[in-house]
Amino acid sequence: MPEGQVSHRNAIRFTAALVGHQLTRVEAPEPRLTAQRIPERLEGDRVTGAEAVGKHHLLRFASGRVLHSHLMMSGVWRLMPSSSPPRPGGLFLALWTSRHVAALYRCPNVRLLEPGEPLSRGLRATGPDLLDPAVDPGAAAGARLARVEPTRQVGDALMDQRIVSGIGNVYKSETCFLTGIDPWRPVGSLSSEEATALGATASRLLAEGVADGGPIRTWRPPDAPPWARERTWVYGRRGKPCRRCGTRVRSRGQGDANRTTYWCPTCQT
Ligand SMILES: [Zn+2]
Repeated sequence: MPEGQVSHRNAIRFTAALVGHQLTRVEAPEPRLTAQRIPERLEGDRVTGAEAVGKHHLLRFASGRVLHSHLMMSGVWRLMPSSSPPRPGGLFLALWTSRHVAALYRCPNVRLLEPGEPLSRGLRATGPDLLDPAVDPGAAAGARLARVEPTRQVGDALMDQRIVSGIGNVYKSETCFLTGIDPWRPVGSLSSEEATALGATASRLLAEGVADGGPIRTWRPPDAPPWARERTWVYGRRGKPCRRCGTRVRSRGQGDANRTTYWCPTCQT
């Protein structure tokens, strides 16, 4: 599932491969995108920027148009040389330059904005991005969590992209474990040091995810080979012994979306 590390990694790759290049061909085979007439509006335009805001992707063009996408649970952007065109199954959108193809799969959440057209409400309401170099992630999390409804649970609040953006379901559980904070605690019980630690830790994990480029890996024993399948402290480890104390890791759905949270009842208080 894409979290903030994926959008930021894509922004880096797209900047290197696409910025400065003209779109020679645009395909939008997905029927749900037909009404936007994306190929007619975008072909021939030149890419001027690729950005990530939380889990949102923004591609900017010389015309002033902006292509906004959000991968949700199942979408994926792939980048490949134009000599090896994208496979058609699940293809929603393909942007071709003379050298590369950026192909978007299984993602209906795409909008092509006209110059000056306002960004979607969801994007405008996005909280500070924990990977934005202009943001101090600890301070941002401290300030934003202090304004959250105090009875809200920590794990649920961390997933709310309006508070801070970038954290998804895996990083939520791993951040709470590494800070020793029980994800079921009310936000109002957090000290300012704890709130700061949550933001700083999540930001560090996300940055490592951008650098890694593969599946999320938060547990890195020095002797583990790179292909080791075990990659996390608690996420996905229900019933297995905690790596620190041996207590069985627990899991339960949390928040309105009932997203599964994993935690160690001994290490996290
Ligand atoms: Zn433990």
